[in-house]
Amino acid sequence: MKFEDYKFNPKVKKGLAELGYSKPTDIQYKSIPNILKGEDLLAIAQTGTGKTAAFAIPIIDVLYEKKLDERRPTGAKCLVLAPTHELAIQIHEVFEKIGKYTTLKSIAVIGGVEQDPQIIKLYKGVDIIIATPGRMFDLISQQHLQTHQIEILVLDEADHMLDLGFIKDIKGLMYKLPKRRQTLFFSATINEKIKKIAYSLVKQNAIRIQLSTKDPVAKKVDHSVVFVDMDHKRFFLERVIKENPDSKILAFVRTKVRAERVAKAMERVGISALTIHGDKDQHQRSDVLKQFKEGNVNLLVATDVTARGIDIPDIEIVINYDLPEEAENYVHRVGRTGRAKKKGHAYSFCSEEEKDILKEIQTFLTKEIKVLVLGEGEYADTLHVELERKNDYKTLMKEIEAFEETRKKKKKKK
Ligand code: AMP
Repeated sequence: MKFEDYKFNPKVKKGLAELGYSKPTDIQYKSIPNILKGEDLLAIAQTGTGKTAAFAIPIIDVLYEKKLDERRPTGAKCLVLAPTHELAIQIHEVFEKIGKYTTLKSIAVIGGVEQDPQIIKLYKGVDIIIATPGRMFDLISQQHLQTHQIEILVLDEADHMLDLGFIKDIKGLMYKLPKRRQTLFFSATINEKIKKIAYSLVKQNAIRIQLSTKDPVAKKVDHSVVFVDMDHKRFFLERVIKENPDSKILAFVRTKVRAERVAKAMERVGISALTIHGDKDQHQRSDVLKQFKEGNVNLLVATDVTARGIDIPDIEIVINYDLPEEAENYVHRVGRTGRAKKKGHAYSFCSEEEKDILKEIQTFLTKEIKVLVLGEGEYADTLHVELERKNDYKTLMKEIEAFEETRKKKKKKK
């Protein structure tokens, strides 16, 4: 079935066509009719499967039809909650693009930037609010953000949202929303605890949609692990980058400090790198993502939090420079490649110290990750580059010394 065959408003179809979306993805095919019917939904789908549009398309269609019938604006009807600023911005962009030809107005209510422009926009009137919890609760408590008209509540990356320590606040928010509302949960992974909470927040007859539970990593992502010494990781990163000079590469590290260190190490060997982590303010983070998206720099070194859920369509390689501490983050990380219909590659650099984490990840995936076996020669070759460089450096130092010597001698002669 094509989007052309759906009974959407022509203005919605126009937005979809402009985005180049002709057919629904699996998750869209399964979710859209249920959302249009007003059902509650618990959808578990792999990352990169078109989850955002799975809720954005029907929400836009329903709200636009309602808006056409309204005599005067009645306030925001849909609230989408997302765990990170980047994800909220991205979801907002999807709503804007699909709803481009409708009269619906949406806003991203996120922290890290001034709140006044957001307040002004809220007072002017919006139909859809996409928010991160912190700023949203701030604006609710200051009474700038009204929730009594919300008919549709969406929790994206629901597992993470509920895990972030926002569960009490979110439950509190539920009491403030009208009883007759539609609740939609979207998530790539879900564990028993979160499942229980989620079920307690939706209607009893909520529809459950789950796509390929057995293998949460998309089939289009070829993922493997390579065993390397902790101190040798940077040479392996350098090697992957140099062997794939035109590829966009996203490397995940454990801490903010390591992100900066890895970027510096790459810069020393002539590879430009961007970093994104919690120490950067929102403007810097947005700027970094823009540069990476536009391809000005092909390597982005990131920590988990900021890179969760980001959608950059053409990331060809994800590198787990450090293995993720939370096993399920493996799925979120490698899901940054192989987006939409594209193929992707993911390599995890596992050191001796990280072997236990690897085990946990494999238990979570319920299968082993393919091991890339490097022959001794190949491993040594990767490090050899460094030895050669050291020699180059020594030669360079000698040349500089010699040059200085001759310069001094010349001066004396004068
Ligand atoms: P998401 O899982 O929402 O992050 O989406 C992953 C990617 O799929 C994004 O780059 C979307 O633009 C793309 N996408 C979503 N729906 C469709 C569709 N029906 N046809 C083609 N691409 C799509």
